[in-house]
Amino acid sequence: MGYIVEMGELFLAGNYKRERLAFVKGTGTRLFTEDGEEYLDFTSGIAVCNLGHCHPELLEVLQTQAKLLWHTSNLYYLVSQAKLAEKLVELSFADKVFFANSGAEAVEAALKLARRFGYENFGKEKNQFIALENSFHGRTFGALSVTGQPKYWEGFEPLVPGVIFVKPNDKKALKEAFDDKICAIIIEPIQGEGGIYPLEKDFIELGRELCDKYNALLIFDEIQTGIGRTGKLFAYEHFGVEPDIMCLAKALANGLPLSAMLAKEKVMSALKPGTHASTFGGNPLACAVALKVLEIVSDPSFLKEVAIKGKVLKEKIESLNSFKSGIIKEVRGWGLLIGIEFYIPANEIYKKLLERKILVTQPKPNIIRLSPPLIINYREIDFFIENLKEIITLLKV
Ligand SMILES: *Cc1c(COP(=O)(O)O)cnc(C)c1O
Repeated sequence: MGYIVEMGELFLAGNYKRERLAFVKGTGTRLFTEDGEEYLDFTSGIAVCNLGHCHPELLEVLQTQAKLLWHTSNLYYLVSQAKLAEKLVELSFADKVFFANSGAEAVEAALKLARRFGYENFGKEKNQFIALENSFHGRTFGALSVTGQPKYWEGFEPLVPGVIFVKPNDKKALKEAFDDKICAIIIEPIQGEGGIYPLEKDFIELGRELCDKYNALLIFDEIQTGIGRTGKLFAYEHFGVEPDIMCLAKALANGLPLSAMLAKEKVMSALKPGTHASTFGGNPLACAVALKVLEIVSDPSFLKEVAIKGKVLKEKIESLNSFKSGIIKEVRGWGLLIGIEFYIPANEIYKKLLERKILVTQPKPNIIRLSPPLIINYREIDFFIENLKEIITLLKV
């Protein structure tokens, strides 16, 4: 395996901080290295493989579609694309769907749609965005420009102008930021890369109210929170507040590149032929798989299971506090998107988990994110907890 890592280091761009680790195979919640070493995956990529690795039903759908058709361009209609759009509409607030390939592209599409809708209905002055501090929406210039973490901007300015940042859950600041020039506000229901911070219901409700008052659009970036991750198919269902536009990506096709931007008909009608496009967007292979993903994940009993497993996992982590206090500061999140904030830098805990062949992610120095495949079982949850408990016990603090 050594040589895969070395080849990667020689030839790949150095933009990722990677582990010196290469996986060649995955099944369910497990990943395997070339030497056959087995890892328990508590990441699902970054909340991507919600149904685990190489899910048999998805594999079958993919193989069937691979024998039929890979690409035609969006100059024609595609069976799996039309069916997936129908399914997304059936399961959400939306009436229409635009497909792209990545999260950032879905965000770009949402921002462009919001400006275009403002332009067509209220004039060209209506072009300002409100976004939240500590947010993450992607790395392309538009998505980066609404990402409220200056560390991601360094060396890339000037960004797209016309963005006002507001502190999450600061209702007064939100009210003050609104005026007639605002075309949209973009919000992650749970700030994911920011460290798993769920937003408060009354803040979201106020956002909806102000959008209605100022003819602005409410955009939910559910790229990380969507597709069952939080125990509901979409996280907005926790608030009982519907957006005008929603972005989906990560788990939509369980690892194949696919994203979607959904909107109400009145809003999406601003995208006339020629206003926006994507060559690969809505690829038939990815759409076929995504349709199956939605069939499985949208089952109410599946979602209920996710919510229960998430609750059990969260409570078990919280209970570690009674056993050794002063280590875990807070456990946040819904369903199987959980952030553990430590009083101390989480590096050592992350490394110790990796030594024990358990994969997690670390979105911020003091925070560990758990986003296991939604198919995780209770034995695996207990295995994780036992290991975390041992690691915490052995910590010299
Ligand atoms: C990952 C993520 C993105 C960016 O998705 P890419 O596919 O990496 O472009 C945007 N928004 C949120 C909330 C994300 O978690």
